[in-house]
Amino acid sequence: MEYYKSSDFKSVKKVDAHLHINTDDGRYLEFATLQNFSILSPNVDAGTPVEKQLSIAAVHRQNYPGNFAFLGTFTVDSFGTSGFVRSVIGQIDRAIEQDASGVKIWKNIGMSLKDSNGRYVMADDPIFDPIFQYLTDKKIPLMAHLGEPRNCWLPLEQMTDSGDYRYFKNHPEYHMLLHPEAPSYEDQINARDNVLKKFPGLTFVASHIASLEWNLDEVAERLDRYPSMSIDLSARMGHVQRQSVADYEKVRDFFIRYQDRILYGIDITISEGGDRFDTVSSEMLRRWESDWAYLATDSIQVIENISGDIRGLHLPKTVIDKVYYENVNRYFSAFEK
Ligand SMILES: [Zn+2]
Repeated sequence: MEYYKSSDFKSVKKVDAHLHINTDDGRYLEFATLQNFSILSPNVDAGTPVEKQLSIAAVHRQNYPGNFAFLGTFTVDSFGTSGFVRSVIGQIDRAIEQDASGVKIWKNIGMSLKDSNGRYVMADDPIFDPIFQYLTDKKIPLMAHLGEPRNCWLPLEQMTDSGDYRYFKNHPEYHMLLHPEAPSYEDQINARDNVLKKFPGLTFVASHIASLEWNLDEVAERLDRYPSMSIDLSARMGHVQRQSVADYEKVRDFFIRYQDRILYGIDITISEGGDRFDTVSSEMLRRWESDWAYLATDSIQVIENISGDIRGLHLPKTVIDKVYYENVNRYFSAFEK
């Protein structure tokens, strides 16, 4: 077996398959390129208006075709009207016309969208069937952030991950413990699983370790059950690391077993008027280097709020190349045309 070293970080071709670039400032892409990273930026029905996200992404895609790709998305503004499905498909078509590599669906479906009776609308609601069917027929890959980490249903002080803690402290509207009337964690997972069951021909990347970050056995069970499903690691690496402190071989075996179905990403969002370039780019690099050390080498790290030293998984080169590059190209054909 051959392995990479820490010092190979810069020379290996990599893709961050989940990093939101919502600014037309090109410096972030130039910075990424210097680190040999290309970016797949998923648009999301949140924050910067979707139309604006699309126009920003389309320009980057033209300017940096080898280093930038994006996923379109759709709003649910017209939900409940007779034109809803038509509106969503229109939005998907417009994104694909601008060279989107796929589409992203977001957690607002399941966690905040309600019907006219005030009931939460889940992803497996038949209303969405023609949309998933359209994506399947057109071979448009879907990235799905559905549900949330299990921590979202726990009190802040019981959350196992500092990233989750910070997010839900800042976003009480999505901290489901505070919304007991909303669907449960299991409801979210079941709805997503039902979509996979109903549309086995849909290329389906389940973001954030399929919202099953707390237990890789649960993830493995879904990967076995749904051959069309893959996962991205974005914003959930701490959960993986915590599990590898408890059982190193089990986590390493997971990566080797599912090496064709794991995508790498950190899920930073870069918005206009956000933090300064220097601050954001150094945070990107810090996380990229830390994750590289964890996945590619056997070096030891100390990670915030994880007790115990984190030893790198030391995955073989062939596995690293898939997780960092080949898989995202196979699913999204983003950087090889
Ligand atoms: Zn994201």
